[in-house]
Amino acid sequence: MKRLSFTYSCLAFLGLYCGQPGGTGDKTGPTGYYAIDDFDRVEKIDAHVHLWKPLDTNFIKQAEADNFYLHSLHIYKTGGQPIEDQQEFSLELSRKYPGRVCWSTTFSLKDYHEKDWQKKAVDYLESSLKRGAVAVKVWKNIGMELRDSDSSLVMIDNPRFDPLLDYLEKKKIPLIAHLGEPRNCWLPIEQMTVKGDRNYFSKHPEHHLYLHPEFPGHEEYLAARNRMLDKRPGLIFIGAHLGSMEWSIDQIAEHLDKYPNMAVDMAERISHFQAQAVSDHRKVYDFFIRYQDRLLYGSDLRLVSLDIDGVEKIDPGAIKVFAHSVWRDHWRFFVSDETMETSEVNGAFKGLKLPKETVDKIYRGNAQKWLGIKRQGSPGQ
Ligand SMILES: [Zn+2]
Repeated sequence: MKRLSFTYSCLAFLGLYCGQPGGTGDKTGPTGYYAIDDFDRVEKIDAHVHLWKPLDTNFIKQAEADNFYLHSLHIYKTGGQPIEDQQEFSLELSRKYPGRVCWSTTFSLKDYHEKDWQKKAVDYLESSLKRGAVAVKVWKNIGMELRDSDSSLVMIDNPRFDPLLDYLEKKKIPLIAHLGEPRNCWLPIEQMTVKGDRNYFSKHPEHHLYLHPEFPGHEEYLAARNRMLDKRPGLIFIGAHLGSMEWSIDQIAEHLDKYPNMAVDMAERISHFQAQAVSDHRKVYDFFIRYQDRLLYGSDLRLVSLDIDGVEKIDPGAIKVFAHSVWRDHWRFFVSDETMETSEVNGAFKGLKLPKETVDKIYRGNAQKWLGIKRQGSPGQ
């Protein structure tokens, strides 16, 4: 990470992170490990949530109680909430909850085929970054939905993205990418490794690519992503959802070794670590120790948490209870060595009981470093 030199930072986080972080990263503590009950004492960042509607402020209220700071990601979706509205909402949250919320922007694909689309998209990113965005997110509609004039799917290595990606590489702005799907999407339901995927794809056969062999395979999505990265060694890249390599820590490790400017967030894929810990706990532990500088904690909390529990929340109290239980269960997995079971995974597994130093990195330090959230500095420099 030496080559990273971020020149801007997230205003919202400055208040919080000026000075030392309250001793929570103290390696010389009595045990070198956190207890489960240290949960609300330790400052943590959830590096992947979606705050889009007023009801989502309940996640923020629970974050205040649980000592979490939130990084909210914008997504461009056909027929979805306009990205300009998402941005106005993020700015409102930054004002209303100073120091608690930070956000990343995205660009529209609506006029992708228009001549001036690239310029407009870069201009939009530039203005978002000036207004406080810390990074740029791309979503799986690139590769799965967006089509070229010859009707072929547009992948992330398509040269039409070059001006945007060149801009991000040059300006050292992180690209957060959710590209492709979990590998389970290409398997029959009964072979899928976690319950969330089985539930989601059995309810949404239209997205279950095992049933749609006309789509590219899992490896082809990774290959397109890798071709884009090969062309841009200076691009700061965060693979959302474990970079769609959740099924194999070996595959994640191989990519982190190959791409020094790559990190991954764990959003909505922690169950895949747990599934792998059922059969080889030590291997998962060793992976976390070895790559402790490259892993960002994230939950993917949002109102429709489809593969977390499949139910849209509308009651403020229920939203808070839900967020607390997701965050607390993950914390228990990382800090304790208790034997646990979840409805997501077949079989019992032990918690990882990671050292404090590693927990502090995945829960705070890595988000600060990879998203350019600095303790000092001023926004939009
Ligand atoms: Zn997400």
